Amino acid sequence: MRVFPCDRYRLPLPEGHSFPIDKYALLRRRLEEHAAAGAAIEFVEPHAATDDELARVHERGYLGRVMAGRLSPDEVRRIGFPWSRELVERSLRSTGAAVDAAAAALEDGIGASLAGGTHHAGSNWGEGYCVFNDTAVAAREMQARGAVRRVLILDCDVHQGNGTAEIFSHDPSVFTMSIHGARNFPLRKQASSLDVPLEDGCGDEEYLAALSPAVEQSFDRATPDLVLYIAGADPYEGDRLGRLRLSKQGLLERDRRVLGIARGVAVPVAIVLGGGYCREIESIVDIHAATILLAASRGRS
Ligand SMILES: [Zn+2]
Repeated sequence: MRVFPCDRYRLPLPEGHSFPIDKYALLRRRLEEHAAAGAAIEFVEPHAATDDELARVHERGYLGRVMAGRLSPDEVRRIGFPWSRELVERSLRSTGAAVDAAAAALEDGIGASLAGGTHHAGSNWGEGYCVFNDTAVAAREMQARGAVRRVLILDCDVHQGNGTAEIFSHDPSVFTMSIHGARNFPLRKQASSLDVPLEDGCGDEEYLAALSPAVEQSFDRATPDLVLYIAGADPYEGDRLGRLRLSKQGLLERDRRVLGIARGVAVPVAIVLGGGYCREIESIVDIHAATILLAASRGRS
């Protein structure tokens, strides 16, 4: 399985910033160890998303302000990262990684970005550590290349995919499913094609009982040529922002069900990471690594 890491493109963050930027390099290192021991993982540098790719999703004015560093103080606050050249480069690479992972999935059956899941970015705004919406750009780019007609975005990050929902609200060719904490950020949710809101404290059993029918219904209604799967690590019980109580085993079972249902109908899957805000960064890496290793063990190449 080809995976597209972005950890070389680091962000300069203020001291004490809550974003766990180190998880990306730690995850790559962990996966390199598994690859050396025989796991079927090939690391490929992602391209930087192009203007054409971005403009299929984001308004030109917003793109111009991001590129030139002319975002308003309110826009910067909403994103949650100080603006820098490095932020722009990283955002371009992590968006490119989703596009590359989608293209790899269409060739190999499966592919993964080792970043992204930037689902809070809408057509003309960034929000919640998300500058560009990577899965939205990947979906539209695969359509523009004529590689797919219909796309399903399965968002299993604990936060609602409000940006993705807004972007595709009038586009029936992309089906958006979000399973998330009902009382979690963002406070004002957008309507996805299918939303599955969960109460605080929801554990493995309850989550999985809600997940399976929602994923099956999404496949039935979307009839997708490609799935983009946001495999967030933040429904984990140890997460600081998640409010749910899934165990690591529960999260792996989530991945198994999503990949199993996709495989059952022979639809390619591209994975992006999504969030993870546990204090023990090794736990976040455990969860993401388990997702990637499971996917790699099921890939065709
Ligand atoms: Zn999240």
